[in-house]
Amino acid sequence: MIVRTRAAPSPTGDPHIGTAYVALLNQVFARRHGGQFILRIEDTDVVRSTRASERMIIDALGWLGLDWDEGPDVGGAHGPYRQSERKDIYQAHARVLLDAGHAFYCFCSPERLDAVRAEQTARGENPRYDGHCRALDPDVARRRASGGEAHVIRMKVPAEGVCAFHDHLRGTIEIPFAQIDMQVLIKGDGFPTYHMAVVVDDHLMKITHILRGEEWINSVPKHVLLYQYFGWQPPVFCHLPLLRNPDRSKLSKRRNPTSINYYRRAGYLPQAVINYLGRMGWSMPDDREIFGRDEMIAAFDLDRISLGAPIFDLAKLNWLNGQYIRKLSPEEFMDEVQDWAFNRDRLASLVPLVQERTERFIDLVPQVDYLLGERRALAATDFTHPELSEAEAKKILQYVLWTFDAMATWERDLIYGAVQTIAKAMGHKIRDFLFPLFIAVSGRAVSLPLFDSMHLLGADLTRMRLRDALEVLGGVSKKQLKQLEKEFKALVDTPEGAE
Ligand code: GLU
Repeated sequence: MIVRTRAAPSPTGDPHIGTAYVALLNQVFARRHGGQFILRIEDTDVVRSTRASERMIIDALGWLGLDWDEGPDVGGAHGPYRQSERKDIYQAHARVLLDAGHAFYCFCSPERLDAVRAEQTARGENPRYDGHCRALDPDVARRRASGGEAHVIRMKVPAEGVCAFHDHLRGTIEIPFAQIDMQVLIKGDGFPTYHMAVVVDDHLMKITHILRGEEWINSVPKHVLLYQYFGWQPPVFCHLPLLRNPDRSKLSKRRNPTSINYYRRAGYLPQAVINYLGRMGWSMPDDREIFGRDEMIAAFDLDRISLGAPIFDLAKLNWLNGQYIRKLSPEEFMDEVQDWAFNRDRLASLVPLVQERTERFIDLVPQVDYLLGERRALAATDFTHPELSEAEAKKILQYVLWTFDAMATWERDLIYGAVQTIAKAMGHKIRDFLFPLFIAVSGRAVSLPLFDSMHLLGADLTRMRLRDALEVLGGVSKKQLKQLEKEFKALVDTPEGAE
């Protein structure tokens, strides 16, 4: 058997550090066994998926030195490797399931589904599809569907019994079928859901081992059923522990930088990031802390993955990165620094901002210091302003932070629009409103244009500075946070706020 593994990111935002973690383990495992590693882009959510995000993912994984044998950019014998280009394949497979009586057309309207869900919730039950269309005569249903009536295709699920499957790290897991929904396989737009696409693709792409985040464990029964319905052999399942914030909550951009772009932008070395990710839930047989990917491949063993929650700790990563930086020769150090911030692309992005504001080149550095390096440390008094109380400044920072947390695309005009909307809804003069943001981002009341600065810094670094500013102002207690959240919701839900 040739070991074949895959990473299957959804291109719906910034390249996530968790994607790199999963890709690394899949790649190392495949290489350890002389197998192949595949990159598949799961872009069937047509509303949220973008090519820009796909490019960023490919670019970010490439920066980390991960490479794949097959993928949308390099091709391969089992393509296409973008799910949006495989629609016909999923539809043909859905027909197989329909013909065999393992799936059925469902014509229920969203209103009906909402009503069913509301009733189930009121009765204290888990909301799930009630099987309304399952009993329809298949020929009648097929005619209705081909006559153009809006429909989805759902899988059948046994009413009783237990699905037992094996997870490489956890042994046998049992989940009662009563907990499994009659999952939609093909959506109203003709695209497959994740569950349908993942099973069909993993089979057709000859994936032998699925290493992915443990948040997918509860989906396995649906997948196991589909493998049975198709008469296929399921691959080995190995669910990896999720990366955690130091407080053990799931690693999230609300607390920590999660975009690989941030680590690149902030001057981490890819080898250090890879080394750090390699230590998340896995350890070298001799417990060595510093090791490269090749050493990891030589020693890799799935059984050394521990199920304890791996804590992603920035301070530890910084320490490790420092070790790598100190090992560089002066030549390498210069190359790395140049590549980091003084390459032509980075400089080109600064020119439109600084050229017109520069009389002598010596003026340049003080203008861009907070864009290239950390901004200065702040004190609460930095936020003193005649028109804005400290409480109001905090509110602005928190509201903007929440708005940024929810943004999938980080473009100057989108940032500008989002901030404008809140300023208007809060009824502040824009100048006053922007003051705490200028301080938080640049450390100064006057700096290069704010929205361009935020754009250049990137979403993670900007959010980090806002979070830090909130801390400097004494932080927000849980109670305050709840109150603010309520007010914020009311604000953005009103028609003025939604403008
Ligand atoms: N597209 C899924 C994700 O982004 C992949 C899950 C899997 O590996 O099966 O998490």
